[in-house]
Amino acid sequence: MKVTEHIQQANGNTQFSFEILPPLKGQHINMIFDNIDPLMEFKPPFIDVTYHREEYVFKEQENGLLKKHVVKKRPGTVGICAAIQNRYKVDAIPHILCGGFTKEDTENFLIDLDFLGIQNVMALRGDAVKNETYFRPEKEGHEYANGLVKQICALNDGIYLDEELQNSSKTNFCVGVAAYPEKHMEAPSLESDIHFLKKKIKYGAEYVVTQMFFDNQKYFEFVEKCRSEGITIPIIPGLKPIATKKQLNLLPHRFHVDLPEALILEIIKCKDNTEVKQVGIEWCIQQSKELQKAGIPVLHYYSMGKSDNIQSIASQVF
Ligand SMILES: Cc1cc2nc3c(=O)[nH]c(=O)nc-3n(C[C@H](O)[C@H](O)[C@H](O)COP(=O)(O)OP(=O)(O)OC[C@H]3O[C@@H](n4cnc5c(N)ncnc54)[C@H](O)[C@@H]3O)c2cc1C
Repeated sequence: MKVTEHIQQANGNTQFSFEILPPLKGQHINMIFDNIDPLMEFKPPFIDVTYHREEYVFKEQENGLLKKHVVKKRPGTVGICAAIQNRYKVDAIPHILCGGFTKEDTENFLIDLDFLGIQNVMALRGDAVKNETYFRPEKEGHEYANGLVKQICALNDGIYLDEELQNSSKTNFCVGVAAYPEKHMEAPSLESDIHFLKKKIKYGAEYVVTQMFFDNQKYFEFVEKCRSEGITIPIIPGLKPIATKKQLNLLPHRFHVDLPEALILEIIKCKDNTEVKQVGIEWCIQQSKELQKAGIPVLHYYSMGKSDNIQSIASQVF
């Protein structure tokens, strides 16, 4: 079922969903199941699986010169989605990127998803490859997520890259896109970011999932701005419980989000990460309850591969 249908069917009740990462290459898929199993009692209508593009690793050769290797540390997004749908009978949503994909690669990826009965897809640009400062699209790829959305929706109309294909079958994807209550790091202003978000919607995106935020006010203000700009589709909040002291600096650096002073002070007071985890859980429960009270249709949790804190939160909220 499509995300939009899940939201309609929930009749105003707030639903629980979460995102997982494929395991590092070499690890078993049971690791993923071990993290999903305890969360199934909260009846997620869908589970997202992130996509991780290639990285460059430089290895020294015998002659002392460095050789560039292209590695994918977390492959398996499509396989994990298929395994989730098979095992849990829940919709799995693969993320798909512009980065590292030509339009042809994208089309073939989407054909695989369609054949597997996957009906939702999260369309993202992706970040620059590690070691590079700016995002560089593939030669025959998309520069921004809006081009990717356009291609997916064209396939929904039966339009393939090879326009000479006869009687081509139509796909039926519901497309989600990303948004940033605190602005995407490269956007010159929030207004400009919302302008390009509108473009993704114009090209066919049907729902939005936000970057993590720790202050609900930022989400509420963002949604208000979007609504005043004529955006009417669901804007699903992304939530991440902070779990380690290191994340105090890591999350703002990596995701370009601010942490509220009250949360920072609570974390600084903690003796160890067990205490930090508890603070993170309690903060996220408060955020979740306020969003639930405001009638938000789905709360989407970033598990980052660990489910125990998400389980503690969900048991208090759902
Ligand atoms: C919910 C969520 C899930 C994510 N999942 C993944 C994942 O699985 N794998 C992964 O690698 N990354 C993931 N990301 C990170 C994402 O790939 C990065 O944040 C990336 O930098 C931007 O992706 P986007 O789809 O928002 O890009 P876009 O919508 O393309 O926007 C990127 C920037 O370009 C600007 N822009 C857009 N169109 C134009 C235009 N035509 N001209 C000029 N500027 C323009 C925007 O304002 C923005 O600043 C996720 C992010 C979120 C919020």
